[in-house]
Amino acid sequence: MPWGCSERRRLGALLIGAGLLGAIGASAAAHARSPWALGVFPVRQFQAYTSHYGTRVRPGGREEPHYGLDIAAPLGSPIHSWWGGVVQEVINDGACGIGLVIRSGAYEHIYCHLAGLGASGRYQSGPVLLRSGETVRTGQLIGHVGLSGRTTGPHLHWGMRYRGQWLDPARILRAMAEGQRRLRATARAPKAPSAPRVASFR
Ligand SMILES: [Zn+2]
Repeated sequence: MPWGCSERRRLGALLIGAGLLGAIGASAAAHARSPWALGVFPVRQFQAYTSHYGTRVRPGGREEPHYGLDIAAPLGSPIHSWWGGVVQEVINDGACGIGLVIRSGAYEHIYCHLAGLGASGRYQSGPVLLRSGETVRTGQLIGHVGLSGRTTGPHLHWGMRYRGQWLDPARILRAMAEGQRRLRATARAPKAPSAPRVASFR
């Protein structure tokens, strides 16, 4: 049960292709100066962050690692892909529950505790039907918040790995916020004054 909120995973050497910036393609050209602004926050009906990345203490005092960010949202609320990529795995285990791994260049983004059905490389929830190997777009509806796996309430467990190493998703969110701030600043920046006309003074 490698993907859950609390299961320690022995990291394999999952060195994957190019980095994210190589994977975003021509559509990012206009955002080349702040590429992180292209990312999409995976939950639209955000309620709270209920558990951060890192070590946490379980009831009873036992410490355990938590390889993701828990984002509380209403049961059944939509989940969107953070970035365009390929469905690498459909998870169905006791910890993550029904989940998805999406690969975008050297990044893998992991979504756990989903609603719906997941088996044999196929995930289905309402109108969503995804199969391993399928391409998804940035912001595409990929599932719904559920209660599958080890969870005490409806939330998305959002994990992130870069070249096989767990990463704090909050770092990604900060980079996205900074990218969006830069984009807005660029949009607001005054235009450079036009070159002065050369008048014919006598
Ligand atoms: Zn979690």
